[in-house]
Amino acid sequence: MRLSQYFLHSAYCLLACNAVIHCAQAQQTPALAANVILVTIDGLRWQEVFRGLDERLVGEEYNSLGDGLAENFGADTANARAEVLMPFLHQVLLKQGSVIGNRDAGSCARVTNPWHFSYPGYNEILTGVPDRSINTNDAIPNPNVTVLEWLQQQEGFTNKVAAFSSWDAFPFIINAERSGVPVNAGAKSNPETPFEETLTQLHGDIPSPWPTVRFDAFTHHYALSHLQNHHPRVLYISFGETDDFAHEGDYDQYLLAANRTDRFIHELWDFVQSDPFYQNNTALFITVDHGRGEEPLETWKHHASKESLGGYMKSLAQYEEGIVGSDAVWMAALGAGIASHGLIKNGLIETATCAGSNQIAATLLALLGIDYRNFNPGAGAPLSDILVKP
Ligand SMILES: [Zn+2]
Repeated sequence: MRLSQYFLHSAYCLLACNAVIHCAQAQQTPALAANVILVTIDGLRWQEVFRGLDERLVGEEYNSLGDGLAENFGADTANARAEVLMPFLHQVLLKQGSVIGNRDAGSCARVTNPWHFSYPGYNEILTGVPDRSINTNDAIPNPNVTVLEWLQQQEGFTNKVAAFSSWDAFPFIINAERSGVPVNAGAKSNPETPFEETLTQLHGDIPSPWPTVRFDAFTHHYALSHLQNHHPRVLYISFGETDDFAHEGDYDQYLLAANRTDRFIHELWDFVQSDPFYQNNTALFITVDHGRGEEPLETWKHHASKESLGGYMKSLAQYEEGIVGSDAVWMAALGAGIASHGLIKNGLIETATCAGSNQIAATLLALLGIDYRNFNPGAGAPLSDILVKP
């Protein structure tokens, strides 16, 4: 070996050793939680979550149930209306956990994908990367690997990952066939217990208003039953009614669905905290796949970016700027590894500190003590503000 080659070789070794040390550090961070549960609520606006019932939408046009809505969800202040609509979120997560996305109070979260509708939003949440080429809601097998699929292949997580969804596109979004992650969605359920057999029978007997979405009660009870019987370490539940009722312009049912989903999550958390496997070692993370419009008033029904109007969302082309505000989302977390900061005032959308949906996958991995760069170095970084310091 010539001297120059020796120095080159030494330099290479030094770099390689540094890389190894770096890799070793990257692979392991202290686990903050043993288990994680991710819940999404399709297209539930931050406006209802933090302001409650929008009194401007109370009137015949959007109210299928007459005038009882204001009696159920009315109150004098926005905070009080929000609390009566989603009591678990306000009384527990905002007090014991961390929440982002109340723009009235300088707290900001948004999607970073360019489309502002469902499949692109779920792809971003689950992969940590906004993908411009995911530009329809069609049932196409996702070419991208989700954090669920990646975890399913990691030691300690194989056969400990499960997904439940009201929308029947999820077996494609999670690519159930390739990933091996079981996805209970739409009419597909594979009942394992007498209770689940009854659920399946009822699902067949009760007509859903929508061809591709089942009622959230089925999704909730299948998921809770699986949690009780299988104890997965990673559970994903995707609720869908809020979005479908909103698209129909049925504000009454949209609010009732939001209220019911809050109760479902409360039931889920009560089980988690009563079960020795999950108690005090499980983190819950809740978010949405996109927001909705606010001005003009009727755009509460819709969501779409300006750019999407030229493609999948062309039916909304009359709104030349797209549905403004439909990139705004919210996030809430509770449990092991989650700091009790309440609402995190991280700034508004003009600032670089607005939280992104592309950071959720890395946050779930950070809770489990895994550096997200082992999953996908292109994913958004963890939401460190909501994590307890190890
Ligand atoms: Zn959606």
